[in-house]
Amino acid sequence: MKTLTVSVVTPDGPVLEEDYEMVSCKAETGELGILPGHIPLVAPLTISAVRLKRNNGEDRLAINGGFMEVRPDKVTILAQSAEKPSDINIARAEEAKSRAERRLQSKQDNVDFQRAELALKRALNRLDVGR
Ligand code: ATP
Repeated sequence: MKTLTVSVVTPDGPVLEEDYEMVSCKAETGELGILPGHIPLVAPLTISAVRLKRNNGEDRLAINGGFMEVRPDKVTILAQSAEKPSDINIARAEEAKSRAERRLQSKQDNVDFQRAELALKRALNRLDVGR
């Protein structure tokens, strides 16, 4: 089976560099499935799960924004944050979710709703990937 190297980097450092048979992720324009030999492209990613497939198994990462760069033999993901399921603190994500929901429900006009919505998306994504 042909593979491509997947490298995931955040401001905190590298998260993963391994070979996979397929990468699926959610770009702003929709779901992308990348196989070895794909034409070069750059795409902005949404707050979502990146799914990495090989040997009939799947690894997942919770990604927060950023970009993917595709070359025929390599996919590089540069993201603001990226966590493996085992690195996700579920309690922290639950707290972030509650905090964001409280802010979204409050009628105060000093609340930055867009920021709260993004925080909620990050928390839900972590909960989805982490459990
Ligand atoms: P919180 O409000 O809990 O800080 P957040 O969504 O604002 O959540 P981010 O700004 O996206 O957090 O991330 C800051 C750093 O903390 C990143 O390195 C990210 O990987 C890490 N991080 C955030 N939430 C979690 C979590 N639930 N489990 C593990 N790492 C997390």
